[in-house]
Amino acid sequence: MAGFVSLPVLTRGNRGGIDLFVNRRYVEDRSLTHAVIQAYHTLLPVGRFPIGVIFVEMDPSAVDVNVHPRKTEVRFQEARDVFFAVQKAVRRVVVENASVPGFAMGAGNDGDETDAERDGWAVPDESPTAGLPSGWAERREMILAAGQTQRAIDLYVPQDSAPLPAPQTATPSPSTPASQYPSPPPPPPSSPRQRNTLPPLRVVGQVGAMYIVAEGPEGMFLIDQHAAHERVMYEKFMAQRLAPGGGIPRQGLLNPLTLHLGDALAGQVTLYMPELAAVGFEVEPFGGDTWLVRSVPSALAGQDAGRVLEEIVQGLALERDLVGQQLEAELVKMVCKRASIKAGQILSDIEMKELLRQLEECQSPRTCPHGRPTMIQLSSGELEKAFKRT
Ligand SMILES: [Zn+2]
Repeated sequence: MAGFVSLPVLTRGNRGGIDLFVNRRYVEDRSLTHAVIQAYHTLLPVGRFPIGVIFVEMDPSAVDVNVHPRKTEVRFQEARDVFFAVQKAVRRVVVENASVPGFAMGAGNDGDETDAERDGWAVPDESPTAGLPSGWAERREMILAAGQTQRAIDLYVPQDSAPLPAPQTATPSPSTPASQYPSPPPPPPSSPRQRNTLPPLRVVGQVGAMYIVAEGPEGMFLIDQHAAHERVMYEKFMAQRLAPGGGIPRQGLLNPLTLHLGDALAGQVTLYMPELAAVGFEVEPFGGDTWLVRSVPSALAGQDAGRVLEEIVQGLALERDLVGQQLEAELVKMVCKRASIKAGQILSDIEMKELLRQLEECQSPRTCPHGRPTMIQLSSGELEKAFKRT
């Protein structure tokens, strides 16, 4: 087992910062994610979650990777053993390192201590980066560097920087006035007022199949590809939803999906049928707790849309208080989250350029619809300071 995890001082408001790889394959596994969270038991405030990347290497015959067509899910023969191995390893390094001031990352295995491990980074091989998928060495360096200068990292373009001409495309079009966006996420209270438009950004490359490195007039930007794409889709969908005669593009299914839900969830579908249709899911009752899905949002093409719908219905069960516009916005967010580019997806230069171009057109390009930052910036001044050039 290898990887790196955050100290308790660095947290997030959701589990999205925990990435799992089993035998070099990116996987989504609730149980293992929970094992990482459990390792921080009582060390994190309620509602806060750690950040980490965990690589589990194991006998391929002990894990089934063909559970799901997208192969992001796996089934372990000894799920409990894997759970406790991850929990124990993470707990050990977190507790051992928790008293170190500042920000450092480490992970553990049960082997003898190696140089790499003393360095706060444990991997099975002799070199800290040997055996990891290509691109991860850079990602680790980048994150470690970001950690060392964490206080200096400015999440936003400084207010006093010379104003840049806003790209024409950033001007809101008449069909999407800002007032029609129901709830733009409030800026963090301590941050300077953020300028909405982005400076022109030049794509440098991709790190860890997760972040886009870009250069702007004010320094370097790291853009979270998933969060950025979520923002782009969210604004596009909200505009399409409101356009007269428009609506979120949907794809009719020649062979309708059948959806089997428990009685409780079937009730949810009945309740939210119009709202689900508004985001592209046309469903109709098919008797009992079974539903026919006649169309899905086009953005979900190529995905297991039935499963996504099931997750969305489950999510709605937790959002009972939402009505009207808020409910619709929440549904759009749920679709965006599942339809947008995932962490772990390799992007071509053209795709990265296009994503940044679309992000520049957004009204609130600096946060995803859930309020997480889409980018962090390392200014030229901070770089100079870090390299002791001043
Ligand atoms: Zn988000």
